[in-house]
Amino acid sequence: MNKEVYMEGAEESLLHVYNRFPVVLDHGEGVYLYDTDGKKYLDFAAGIAVMALGYGHEAYNQALKEQIDKLTHTSNLYYNVPVMEAARKFCNISGMDRVFFTNSGAEAIEGAIKAARKYAYIRDGHTDHEIIAMEHSFHGRTMGALSVTGNAHYREPFEPLLGGVRFASYNDIDSVKACINGKTCAIILETVQGEGGIYPADKEFLEEIGRICRQRDILLILDEIQCGMGRCGTMFAWQAYDVKPDIMTSAKALGCGVPVGIFAMTDQVAKQSLVPGDHGTTYGGNPFVGAAVSKVIDLFEELQLVEHVRQVAAYMEEQLDQVVADYDCITGQRGRGLLRGLVTTRPVGAITTEALQEGLLVISAGQDVIRMVPPLVIEREHVDEMIQKLRRVLDRV
Ligand SMILES: *Cc1c(COP(=O)(O)O)cnc(C)c1O
Repeated sequence: MNKEVYMEGAEESLLHVYNRFPVVLDHGEGVYLYDTDGKKYLDFAAGIAVMALGYGHEAYNQALKEQIDKLTHTSNLYYNVPVMEAARKFCNISGMDRVFFTNSGAEAIEGAIKAARKYAYIRDGHTDHEIIAMEHSFHGRTMGALSVTGNAHYREPFEPLLGGVRFASYNDIDSVKACINGKTCAIILETVQGEGGIYPADKEFLEEIGRICRQRDILLILDEIQCGMGRCGTMFAWQAYDVKPDIMTSAKALGCGVPVGIFAMTDQVAKQSLVPGDHGTTYGGNPFVGAAVSKVIDLFEELQLVEHVRQVAAYMEEQLDQVVADYDCITGQRGRGLLRGLVTTRPVGAITTEALQEGLLVISAGQDVIRMVPPLVIEREHVDEMIQKLRRVLDRV
């Protein structure tokens, strides 16, 4: 069967909510993907910042295979060892005290919102609490996560959403302060905005939010679903700031390919929020995803991946500076670590499509940003190869 036949077949039976790239991916190896025609792609998209270990990592695959043969699902009515180990390891790397496993990022956001609302409810018994979220944020597509997503285009068709959400401008502390009142129970933000255009939080901005939250017993929820798990050069992006969230979310690279997310919290929040009967999930935290998360965290340590990210990202930043200097249509770059955005004056879709032709996978963020979120295991030689391909693409568009 050729590519067109696969693509037509998919479009006949899948709900059309994606304009997909015209490629049918077949298998991967290291930081490369291969399509059904055997064409090779250098992957700087990593399935949207998921495949931190690249493809076909032997120890990771082995751990999953062994777990499949043992036990994949139990429900949360019983204990299982892999998820207990994964939870302990996640608490170690994050400094959080308690975790809840979900099946996706959006569900982790749902849980974080519920925990924050319940915390405030226990404190004062009111049922009109408000949450402050950021413009240009992205927290997912479920109704609750959508309610705190700062993109009217995503939200509007599905209104009414959750009530009591106010939007402030990212990196504008006065706009946050203007939203705070006696009903505010939480402030939610991405430490580095991903989908909205790769904007890192300014140090003073995030740290001031942290101070305000502590003073007023408002919970700080940091969404680390895209920027966390080593991508920004620290295990979690917030660890580069003098701040600690009360609740945080993780997903994407957390399972390196298995569907898993987490919302985690401090003991202080855990003791005064969700209790048996308040929240649950059938799949979440099953032994299969537990084994994956557990192995991922071990491998981050073994490969010293966070340190590696810092080194290779510094090199990539230098090389991209050259591209910015050499091309009028690239006006700048921003980001942290291996979460990078190139700002372009050309239609970003034309560039990502041309890159596909060239055998390079990159994606967009916002209207004018080329987003690069490669596997964290890339080496300098892959950066060089990406730059070569990118230059050829930019020469053509
Ligand atoms: C991808 C993403 C989500 C949603 O995760 P899903 O697994 O797609 O539900 C939430 N927040 C951020 C910052 C993300 O990048």
